[in-house]
Amino acid sequence: MSHKTEDVMYAEKETSQHGGTKDAPTSQATSRSTAEYRALDAAHHIHPFSDMGSLNRAGTRVIVKAQGVYLWDSEGNKIIDGMAGLWCVNVGYGRQELADAAFRQMRELPYYNTFFKTTHPPVIELSALLAELTPAPFNHFFYCNSGSEGNDTVLRIVHQYWATQRQPARKFVIARKNAYHGSTIAGGTLGGMAYMHEQMPSKVENIVHIDQPYFFGEAASDQTAEEFALARARQLEAKILELGADNVAAFIGEPFQGAGGVIFPADTYWPEIERICRKYDVLLVADEVIGGFGRTGEWFAHQHFRFEPDLITLAKGLTSGYVPMGAVGLHDRVARALIDNGDFNHGLTYSGHPVAAAVALANLKLLRDERIVERVKVDTGPYFQKKLRETFAGHPIVGEISGAGLVAGVQLAEKPLERKRFANGGDVGTICRDFCFNGNLIMRASGDRMLLSPPLVVSRPEIDEIVSKAEAAIDATARQVGIR
Ligand SMILES: *Cc1c(COP(=O)(O)O)cnc(C)c1O
Repeated sequence: MSHKTEDVMYAEKETSQHGGTKDAPTSQATSRSTAEYRALDAAHHIHPFSDMGSLNRAGTRVIVKAQGVYLWDSEGNKIIDGMAGLWCVNVGYGRQELADAAFRQMRELPYYNTFFKTTHPPVIELSALLAELTPAPFNHFFYCNSGSEGNDTVLRIVHQYWATQRQPARKFVIARKNAYHGSTIAGGTLGGMAYMHEQMPSKVENIVHIDQPYFFGEAASDQTAEEFALARARQLEAKILELGADNVAAFIGEPFQGAGGVIFPADTYWPEIERICRKYDVLLVADEVIGGFGRTGEWFAHQHFRFEPDLITLAKGLTSGYVPMGAVGLHDRVARALIDNGDFNHGLTYSGHPVAAAVALANLKLLRDERIVERVKVDTGPYFQKKLRETFAGHPIVGEISGAGLVAGVQLAEKPLERKRFANGGDVGTICRDFCFNGNLIMRASGDRMLLSPPLVVSRPEIDEIVSKAEAAIDATARQVGIR
């Protein structure tokens, strides 16, 4: 009796022609044919957030190398990466400094823990540099391996904070629908993705959601963007009063929603959220996993929106994705409470991993010393935003461009001027994403919004290439749905 699928049989047959796989040189990424890679991938690899049946039938694209803002697949196609991987490769691909930092650290001290009265130079240097780069009140950092773990850690810190304040009844955390905070049970519960919640019968308790500040999709026809954002922020106050302020621990939000569609709230939103959090003594958490490390042209997205959180979640751009690492930054008032009140019973084997810390350190030095963040703010960011807005002004299926710096959302719509969306929005996004993919541009779809978030080292000519390929794909999408 065999459980093996045809895919597996095929994979085995293919690989056996090469005389077995066990001692194949793993450093040679292109040592197999595309067909072999696909077959083995289909046979043995479950992909994240994927329908594996249809993915295996269609076949995956095998990415074998990258340099700057470009990727190459196993067929030799050169692809421009409009997404910086998954919003993370801020310094671009192929930076020798990061590879060297990892190599040196692996030889010197590949691993040691920070649990039992020990520490090591990379995590010390990284913490000191983060204290410099973050706004003044952030001087303490807790490390983990991902954004999801960062938000798990946020929950642990928030609850510990209120325990130290002798207000243990403050246990509710308020988040938002269509937010993304990761895919651990806590991250997934904090997030507001209905399609994830449907597959999570067990969620973390005491987490509730309010509506998102998504103007194009959810505002009344007579509301201005500013009025709408204010109304959405005031849902926080209503929710706090409903739960009882003495029961509310924290509010968490991405300064702009990333995976949810690059939703940039109007300027009225965050000041009102901050006012409400202060009024009711509710901790304010900014999930900076995408917004952090220069994406908007500021070092942190909460600086772009001009508010001061109590906790910040960091990951992605922290290491430019070269190795996994996440962190939580604690405002002095939160840090003090933790430091002065005994054990905090939380940690991960790889908290502050020396290799990850060494890479993060090298990465942050590049962002700072090569003035990469500054260039996003004064040059490439404004150029990218202007170029997108000019290119899609009056386009028959583009409803709005959102974003700042090097992150943007392009809203597809059936009748842009009336803010009328396509009946099956997700399908339109998928059509457009496939056109991009075939045109060798990586642009992601979130429902009916197309997302761009290129490496922060992208040049003006590369921005021109991204935008013209995006335009070609959106034009093709318009023709496919019978508009234009
Ligand atoms: C990606 C992301 C996360 C989760 O990070 P992982 O490293 O995938 O666990 C959390 N919050 C936001 C805003 C993200 O974009």
